[in-house]
Amino acid sequence: MDNDCLFCRIAAGEIPATVVHETPTTLAFRDIDPKAPVHVLVIPRAHHRDVVALAADPGAAADVLATAAAVAEAEGLTGDGFRLIFNTGSHGGQEVFHVHAHVVGGKPLGPMVS
Ligand code: 5GP
Repeated sequence: MDNDCLFCRIAAGEIPATVVHETPTTLAFRDIDPKAPVHVLVIPRAHHRDVVALAADPGAAADVLATAAAVAEAEGLTGDGFRLIFNTGSHGGQEVFHVHAHVVGGKPLGPMVS
C-alpha cells in the first residue's frame, strides 16, 4: 500500500467510498463526480500506477475485468451496453495514479473522443 495514494487508502477503508462490489483482489465503488447515471470505478487492491503496469500482472488484470463485468451486470448495463475506460497518463486525462477502470453507462454515451 502507498499511503500517499487516494485509491490505496479507499481500498484500505481509510477513506469512505460507496462500495458496490468487492473481491479479495479488487474493489468497485461509485465515482464521487459521476458523468452518467452509472459511473463506477474498479481498482485492484494492489497498487499499480496505470493500465500498462497492470498488464504486467495478468492475474490482477483479469480480476479487474471480471469485477468490471460483474458491476455492469449488477447495474443492469449489459443489455444496452456501457463503456469501460482506462484513462492513462496526461494525454489520457488520468488524475489518480492507481489504475482504475471506469464503468460508465445508463444512457447513450455518444462519440468516444470529442
Ligand atoms: P481519472 O481521471 O484518473 O481517470 O479518474 C479519476 C476519477 O476518480 C474521477 O472520475 C474522479 O471523479 C474520481 N475521484 C476522485 N477522487 C475521488 C474520491 O475521493 N472518491 C471517489 N469515489 N472518486 C473519486
